[in-house]
Amino acid sequence: MSCDFLALANPGVRELHPYQAGKPISELERELGISNIVKLASNENPLGLSPLAKAAMEREMADLARYPDANGFYLKAKLAERLGISAGQITLGNGSNDVLELVARVFVEPGNEVIYSEHAFVVYPIVTQAIGATRVEVPARDRGHDLEAMAAAITDKTRLIFIANPNNPTGTWVNGADLKAFMEKVPENVLVVVDEAYFEYVSEPDYPRTLEWLAEYPNLLVSRTFSKAYGLAGVRAGYIVAHEEITGLLNRVRQPFNMNSLALAAAQAVLDDTDYLARAIEVNRAGMEQLEAACHEHDLDYIPSVGNFLTIDMGRPAGPLYQFMLERGVIVRPVANYGMPDHLRVSIGLPEENARFVELLPQLPR
Ligand SMILES: *Cc1c(COP(=O)(O)O)cnc(C)c1O
Repeated sequence: MSCDFLALANPGVRELHPYQAGKPISELERELGISNIVKLASNENPLGLSPLAKAAMEREMADLARYPDANGFYLKAKLAERLGISAGQITLGNGSNDVLELVARVFVEPGNEVIYSEHAFVVYPIVTQAIGATRVEVPARDRGHDLEAMAAAITDKTRLIFIANPNNPTGTWVNGADLKAFMEKVPENVLVVVDEAYFEYVSEPDYPRTLEWLAEYPNLLVSRTFSKAYGLAGVRAGYIVAHEEITGLLNRVRQPFNMNSLALAAAQAVLDDTDYLARAIEVNRAGMEQLEAACHEHDLDYIPSVGNFLTIDMGRPAGPLYQFMLERGVIVRPVANYGMPDHLRVSIGLPEENARFVELLPQLPR
């Protein structure tokens, strides 16, 4: 006799599927018994850890028997100064996913609606569903967010809207004028989270400066992460900037030590590593050119991307191609779960890592 635990789970959770992460290098090494594996599957920074972040974590080691600073005083102070906001507007998280979930838990209840775009980051439907709220997925336009349609989807039940800018896994982005026009249409009692996980990579002049809009739109929240351009994905550090009253509410539910001591130290240090950030952006720019050129050479369409990844239309079901590459030690990311069964998402790596992917293109099975 065994208990039906599925029936015990809350209704939203019953219908959830776990997040599918990129395959870890160690797992593929175990499976294939090979060692020269490149991972271009999780939009990580190919430069490895910043030396300043590494040194800061090594210094922090001596104090790890103690709890972290629950308020992240020094990190918030530094962020506030850099970003031109107040420390009271910042909520730190164990990665930005942590704070995205926190927003949903604090403001959304069963029966509410949460709006996001087709092909948008999968964490938005997951956190919505987990709460038992209703997912409202608005069809994409040219693979990107259709902000007009998203505004039109707002109802009395809408509590929260997620906008990924740029979006993962498409690399598409919305410009300042369009986002502003959208904000004008959103009622003040509907929260808008703009997820800017990749903003450091964006060089487009009309990319919105959302932090400057916070006073004008109290319902606007902006999330950022140390996982991508700052190269701390394994450490888990992110944050969200919002109105002080919203921040206070998030703080009621937040786990007090949700950002650990190493993450606090590393994030604080890496903010000073301007050389590392500049190199990350340059390596990404060059790698993007390398992959785009390979696509042109092999007649493959891709979605123009301002992130640190390129999503390529392979022109046929991509599952077997993913598998083919995997067996040759190149891990990329199938995105069928994002409604794009023919696409592969390829994170920008070092030149020699990108080359490993490019070399396989002419060998792919038909
Ligand atoms: C990678 C990513 C994040 C960052 O997640 P962390 O939890 O901070 O590592 C957030 N949003 C999007 C769209 C992403 O692709």
